[in-house]
Amino acid sequence: MTTGRIHSYETLGGLDGPGMRLVVFLQGCPLRCGYCHNPDTWDVHGGTETTADEVMRRIRRSRPYFGKQGGVTFSGGEPLLQAEFVAELAAVCASEGIHTALDTAGLPLSPAVERALSVCQLVILDVKHADPARYRELTGVDGRGMREVLDYTARARKPTWIRQVVVPGWNDRPEDVRALAALLAGHPCCERAELLPYHTMGCGKWQALGCISPFAGTPPMTAEKLGPLQQILDEALCQ
Ligand code: SF4
Repeated sequence: MTTGRIHSYETLGGLDGPGMRLVVFLQGCPLRCGYCHNPDTWDVHGGTETTADEVMRRIRRSRPYFGKQGGVTFSGGEPLLQAEFVAELAAVCASEGIHTALDTAGLPLSPAVERALSVCQLVILDVKHADPARYRELTGVDGRGMREVLDYTARARKPTWIRQVVVPGWNDRPEDVRALAALLAGHPCCERAELLPYHTMGCGKWQALGCISPFAGTPPMTAEKLGPLQQILDEALCQ
């Protein structure tokens, strides 16, 4: 029986895809982003080993709340680290008419990754920075996985939402936003591109793990600063 490692579930999330959703947080992430608010999802040996049947039972219990638009979002952690498991769950959901979204920062393509991407109906792609060097500053890798997933969604005509967390002093310049718009040019399947405000809610978790975030002391991003940046992005994408 297929098993995967689950960190937790969040019921009735309204931010991680259309409608009301059950968010399944999968355990394990290789990126170690300095602003991560779920560092407790990083350890690939953490979480709870869970069978696909158990996860499906949990999903079916939430089904009455999904309504017409809602469904399941696979998040993490990095759900594509367990791509086979996600693909299996998403395929069962599809056979039962349950909408699935995959909330990912991307991994380099492999047969399993492509299968998970193909079977989920919506990809929510976290583009941390368009510039490979800046991406590496944050994560230690250059974002090849993100770019390969972005190109895959264009080729496959997969509905895609783009997100980028904006951190004061790190990627809050208009040129950072224009670089994101340039990366997205030629990807007509991107239905949305949203800038999300950096917040400090994960700081306590970093301390609990004995780690210090490189953004410790950075103030939260304000709506007053984020609004004009979102406007620059929207205008650049309309051109
Ligand atoms: S990709 Fe997401 S879960 Fe992984 S370290 Fe970055 S913010 Fe955290």
